[in-house]
Amino acid sequence: MMENYSKVPNLDNVYFTEDALECPHCQTNMVPKFLFGYICPNSILEMNAENPLVLFVICTQKNCKASFLAEYKIEISSSGKIGPVKYFYSTSGVYYYSEYEEYPDEIEYYEKMIKKRPFYKSFIDIYKEAFTAESNSLGQIAGMGYRKAIEFLVKEYAMHLNSEKAETIASTALGTVINNYLSFDEELLNISKRASWLGNDEVHYLKKWIGKDINDLKKVILLTIQTIERVESIKDYINDMKDPR
Ligand SMILES: [Zn+2]
Repeated sequence: MMENYSKVPNLDNVYFTEDALECPHCQTNMVPKFLFGYICPNSILEMNAENPLVLFVICTQKNCKASFLAEYKIEISSSGKIGPVKYFYSTSGVYYYSEYEEYPDEIEYYEKMIKKRPFYKSFIDIYKEAFTAESNSLGQIAGMGYRKAIEFLVKEYAMHLNSEKAETIASTALGTVINNYLSFDEELLNISKRASWLGNDEVHYLKKWIGKDINDLKKVILLTIQTIERVESIKDYINDMKDPR
């Protein structure tokens, strides 16, 4: 047995050093648990090694236990008894993949605005879930999700404008909230009405707007948030630039 080297569980005659590595998730130095090795046929990544060994490892830090990939450069040992043995030393070439999330491009801008306009937050969370459902061919669920998203957008915006009436708004039907609280801007009133009509088609047994589909619903929802953003941006400039006279 080679000292300070362990056998790669699934590879014959392949050993690796048990040096500590920094976990890319929790930044702790620890000797990871090694699960599986793969010798890459091609030189990859920054290390630029020939046939590097890539190990799938688990961080041994108690509160982390996250997995990542560690890349090792191969060395050939000339020392005797075990015969020529490949072994490896750790390098800084530790890397990992972050979770891949597909975000809908169309609401990315509004997502960046959440800090300034917190009433977008629930809408964006729900919209993303509906988007994920739609991406996974769950059209029925997606339609209901988009319907819920528009309700949260309209109600939370109405609450933002009329904080003293938040409880009433929460328990009032979407169409009524639109009529009662969004009529100050004609375009906003008209487009949010259409969003609620098409949204209702996604949850009601009988469809009223034949020939309109989930893409139309998404379009009117986006026009609604664009209109809210226009109204709020104008307000921002009016507040920032007081009339000097
Ligand atoms: Zn860790």
